[in-house]
Amino acid sequence: MELEQERNLIVKYGLKMISSGLTTGSGGNLSCLCREHDLIAIGPSGVDYADVSAEDVVIVNRSGAVVEGALKPSSELSFHLALYNARPEVNAVVHTHSVYATTMACLQREIPAVHYLVAFAGKKVPLAPYATFGTPELASSVVSGIGNANAVLLANHGLVTVGGDMGHAFNVAEEIELVARIYYQCCNVGQPVLVPDAEMDRVLEKFKTYGQQIIPPPK
Ligand code: 13P
Ligand code: ZN
Repeated sequence: MELEQERNLIVKYGLKMISSGLTTGSGGNLSCLCREHDLIAIGPSGVDYADVSAEDVVIVNRSGAVVEGALKPSSELSFHLALYNARPEVNAVVHTHSVYATTMACLQREIPAVHYLVAFAGKKVPLAPYATFGTPELASSVVSGIGNANAVLLANHGLVTVGGDMGHAFNVAEEIELVARIYYQCCNVGQPVLVPDAEMDRVLEKFKTYGQQIIPPPK
C-alpha cells in the first residue's frame, strides 16, 4: 500500500475532527501531500470519519488521477489540489464545517483581529465568495480568498486551513474555531475592540519563534 504514513494521518485526524467537535458525520475533508512521492492522500467522499480505514484513503497524483484506492476521493479534491499548486510550503489541507467559523461564513463576515490567536491564520481570516461545493469555481474562490493566509472562510459553507504538516493545519482549524467563537460572543454583547495592526505585526513576528519552531508561520 502506498503512503501508509499519510493514510494513517488521514484516519487519525478524521477521528480528531469528530472528537474535537470540528465537524459531524462525513462533513469536511482532509488531505496531505507526500513530497517524496509527489502524491496526495485524501479521505473518501461521503464516508463517516468513524468508518474510514487506512485502505479507504485515496491516493491521487497532482492532477487528481487516482493512483491507488477503490473509493471515490473527496468531492473537494479540486480545492485541495489547487492549494498545493498555489502554495509550495503547504503539505496538508483541512476543511471543516465547525459551527462558529461557519456561522461567520454564513454571515459572509471575515474574522478580524479580535484576539491575537487570529495570527494562526494571519492578520485576519479572509472570506472566499460562495461557490457550489465540489466545483472548480469553489477551488478558484478558495485559492484567491486565502491568499497567503493559513485559513479562509468559505461563504455559506465552512472553513479551510493549510499547514506545513497535518498537525499544524489541524491546529490552525482548532484555533480559528476558538477565535470565531470569541468573535461571535463579542458581537452578541457589543462591539469587539480589535488588536491594532502594528500589534498584530508584532504577534506574527513572535509566532516565528513560538513553540518548537518546526512550522512556518504565515508570511
Ligand atoms: P466529501 O465527503 O466529498 O469530502 O465532502 C464533504 C464536504 O465538506 C464538501 O464540502
Ligand atoms: Zn464542506
